[in-house]
Amino acid sequence: MKTAVLYPPFRKDGELPLLTQNRHLKFSKTQEVRIFPLVPGHLATNLKHLGHEVLWLDGINRRMSDEEFDGHLTAFNPEVIFLETKAPVVNRHWRYIEELKAQFPNVKIALMGDHVSYFPEESLLNSKVDYVMTGGDYDIVGRNLVEFLAGKAPLGPGVWYRDAEGKTLSTGPHKLEEALDSLPFIDRELTRVQDYGEAYLLRPTAYILTGRGCGAPKESGGGVGLCTFCIWQHALWGKTARLRSPANVAAEMEICINKYKIWEFFDDNESGPIYNIEWLREFYKELKARKLLGRFQFSSNCRADNLNEEIVDLLVLCGWRLLKIGLESGSDYTIKHLAKCETVELISRGVKMAKDKGLVILLTTMMGYPWETEEDVRKTYEVTKDLLFYKVRAGDCMQASVVIAYPGSPLWMEATRKNWLLIGKTDYEKYDMSHPILKSQINASEWATKTWNLMKDPRFVIGQVTTVRSFRQINLLWRGLQSLLGHVQDYGDPVPESKGHATPQTAVN
Ligand code: SF4
Repeated sequence: MKTAVLYPPFRKDGELPLLTQNRHLKFSKTQEVRIFPLVPGHLATNLKHLGHEVLWLDGINRRMSDEEFDGHLTAFNPEVIFLETKAPVVNRHWRYIEELKAQFPNVKIALMGDHVSYFPEESLLNSKVDYVMTGGDYDIVGRNLVEFLAGKAPLGPGVWYRDAEGKTLSTGPHKLEEALDSLPFIDRELTRVQDYGEAYLLRPTAYILTGRGCGAPKESGGGVGLCTFCIWQHALWGKTARLRSPANVAAEMEICINKYKIWEFFDDNESGPIYNIEWLREFYKELKARKLLGRFQFSSNCRADNLNEEIVDLLVLCGWRLLKIGLESGSDYTIKHLAKCETVELISRGVKMAKDKGLVILLTTMMGYPWETEEDVRKTYEVTKDLLFYKVRAGDCMQASVVIAYPGSPLWMEATRKNWLLIGKTDYEKYDMSHPILKSQINASEWATKTWNLMKDPRFVIGQVTTVRSFRQINLLWRGLQSLLGHVQDYGDPVPESKGHATPQTAVN
């Protein structure tokens, strides 16, 4: 069948939605954020492996005009279309589906992503979409759906649809695949590896998933991440964590290094594979056996409480360069309230240990929790400053954002119970980070801006510049500066009271 994975380049006031692989969507003018959508990448590859024709059309990250995007789609003339959606753009997607149905009357359209995993029936009731796929393994659900449409298989679990009378039905709860090694490696040509990267990553960059779902220490969180704001861990992964085998990951990386000259991999698994020391030991052996050590660098998300001396040593040996670590608040009360199952002390210890051993840190934090006072946010600012200025190294950075709670997430449920929402529950377009959505006792936007400005402090700048050791790092700092300026351009500096202020990737770890 002729299948298309589409990211239409919707614009809002000239800005594009940072939708792909972003936990929280915002519209932005940035040229620097082009994150590869990993599960859709697996979906496209799956379909190609089954012999279907595949169009990978990411109009957002290719910064396409509507005309250019439509031109590619019209020329392809799809039979099946997949669209990833999120709360802030779900209304836009419903309208777009109407347009697609007018243009391609026989096309079948499927929606996927976190929002529709929580509210699958809603899209069937509000749009002409044919199928809604639930859960995070929508690469597998989508593959099965196309096989069903091709008349080769029954409809698999996790799909919502309408019967002939228009009644909504489902094939039951989605299932998560245990055997992740059985999935094909992402086809980097089909999915255009060259189109993707971010300011804080070295180039050429490739994104990868070592697994799916957030792993945590057994003693905190019972082995999985539970943060109440973490939309993917709840909506997509059902509070589980799975890993591919080290050999399987290393084999995919080897292809990327040899064939596409990739230098840095970013593992966008929720907390990387760092929670599993056996996995890391095995991964090191694999890299050594394949003679890959020293031929690439690796960066990933990480929970700080997963770090200990042996694990950090292993990360360094394997080629890790950067860890993206969530602080989220300088208040232990807040961290506990969020079910993050860490403490400020544990996070600080992990960050400093990693920095002591030469890793760079991207620290993420959030402001504007309804229960936080001025004193709490000041603590967040001070802890961020302490960690950011500790042994500064070229590539260290931070992101601060105003907290967002997506519909369906535990934090959103709490917000609806406690009347914290500043907007209607289903005012989906307002969840786009352009304005705070939760009541707050502080001016969260101003605090976020103030925190961002820590990166302009001479101590931080001098620490960055004096630790540059390679041309790649010079390039990284240059792009980081452009990204910071782009960020200021997006929001103004300082951010006015009514404006939200955030980066899209913040709410991870
Ligand atoms: S926010 Fe981070 S630590 Fe918390 S559950 Fe999500 S991925 Fe895990």
